[in-house]
Amino acid sequence: MSAFDYDLFVIGGGSGGVRAARVAAGETGAKVALAEEDRYGGTCVIRGCVPKKLMVFASEYRDMPATARAYGWDIADGQFDWTAFRTKLNTELDRLEEVYRKLLKGSGVETFDARATLKDAHTVKLSTGEEKTAKHILIATGGRPQRPDMPNAHLGMVSDDIFHLDKLPKSVLIVGGGYIACEFACILHGLGVKVTQFYRGAQILRGFDDEARGLIADAMKGRGIDLHTGTTIVEMHCVGTPEADAMGEAPVDDVQYGQPEQEEIGSGPVRVKATNGTIRDFDAVFFATGRVPNSDDLGLEALGIEPGRNGAIEVDEYSQTKVPSVYAIGDVTNRVNLTPVAIREGMAFVETVFKGNPTPVDHELIPSAVFTQPEMGTVGLTEEQAAEQEEIEVYCTSFRPMQMAFVDAPDRVLMKLIVSKANRTVLGCHIVAPGAGEMIQLAGIAVKMGATKEDFDRTVAVHPTMSEEIVTMRNPARTR
Ligand code: FAD
Repeated sequence: MSAFDYDLFVIGGGSGGVRAARVAAGETGAKVALAEEDRYGGTCVIRGCVPKKLMVFASEYRDMPATARAYGWDIADGQFDWTAFRTKLNTELDRLEEVYRKLLKGSGVETFDARATLKDAHTVKLSTGEEKTAKHILIATGGRPQRPDMPNAHLGMVSDDIFHLDKLPKSVLIVGGGYIACEFACILHGLGVKVTQFYRGAQILRGFDDEARGLIADAMKGRGIDLHTGTTIVEMHCVGTPEADAMGEAPVDDVQYGQPEQEEIGSGPVRVKATNGTIRDFDAVFFATGRVPNSDDLGLEALGIEPGRNGAIEVDEYSQTKVPSVYAIGDVTNRVNLTPVAIREGMAFVETVFKGNPTPVDHELIPSAVFTQPEMGTVGLTEEQAAEQEEIEVYCTSFRPMQMAFVDAPDRVLMKLIVSKANRTVLGCHIVAPGAGEMIQLAGIAVKMGATKEDFDRTVAVHPTMSEEIVTMRNPARTR
């Protein structure tokens, strides 16, 4: 008979926490409990990957009537109905949350709809007033969006708010250049919102391959997104206030998009002065300026666990904190903030702690996608990172894909391999193309296996496809 109420208490019912809880309970017979203060499924299911991807799908239909007409279809442009979409989206999210609850129940995990904090190394305190003890505690509390530290930042929305809008804004200023900022710029543009994007850096999508970033930025601008790099907000006020009046007049906007009959929503309209000297009014401002780990007020300091840089809980390769009974996984550790990584970390934790098989988390060569239009799929080193590390050959091609060339659309795709000169290993693969996320999942297997350029070369092309170029590039575009 254990001295504790549970073998494992998981705090947070998101991607990582749910997976760890149900595998520990279902596969090892451990007695497991989980507390979730909000909705089961966490960021990914409720306010991240899933609703975002559904919005990507919705937004991609904007150009389809024109493409279909060019292929001979007699089809008219339509109007996007946000209310109908959002109602369906909410129904789907309710369904998925229920799936998560059932998965936990089916695995024998006891759940508490409550906020949990740590009282000591083996005790969890719930917002219901209950206290529960556990041999191991797993913190999987994720992260949250962060507004910039500037006056009136509360006037802007963050990504969590997008899914709850009653009406789409007529115009939006997106502040930020990371993948969430760029994805929502494309989504909202596709849904008929007039999108302006400010990013203070020189190019969007910092950390990704420079050539891919450039192509996506050009394509976004080409589609009509008013992207300004090297630019950020100096001052912002609600239109109609004396402070906004004192900023000066914004030019009357003569471009009509989307749903002009709809009223302004969210925080807007907001008058914004930019570092480039312009003064403009937007129906809404959307800050996609980074995320912070949910590590505050968890009781960590009392246990001697000082959150590190940016509030991340520091853990070793087995996700163990300084306190041996307390582990942490997922975004709260701010290692690689992606759903499949949080899940992997949860599985490795169970393997290590409950299956007696110490398993360090493998963060090498993680494929990922950016769901901009065009989409990017990427795995491994960028050209810039690889060139710093060793001598490389860059195989690269950019072309108009057959489907789009036929209708004379300007869209280009990019296929790129970074190859080690010394041992011919493919160090990185970067694809900008429709469906690049799907392609990179498969290319990622080869790269993870350590495939060489010659392995790619001896793979027969699938014709006619865009991705056949990845196995038909014969000569390096450059060496570095
Ligand atoms: P979360 O999923 O955030 O779960 C943490 C849970 O803990 C939450 O439900 C929270 O309510 C709960 N919680 C917090 N504190 C407490 C407490 N004290 N007590 C009880 N419960 C608590 N990743 C991808 O791989 N692909 C994508 O395309 C992608 N798109 C994204 C788009 C957006 C807009 C955002 C915001 C994120 C996206 N991500 C994407 C990232 C992904 O959602 C996260 O990496 C993933 O959800 C992290 O999982 P987690 O288990 O660490 O935390």
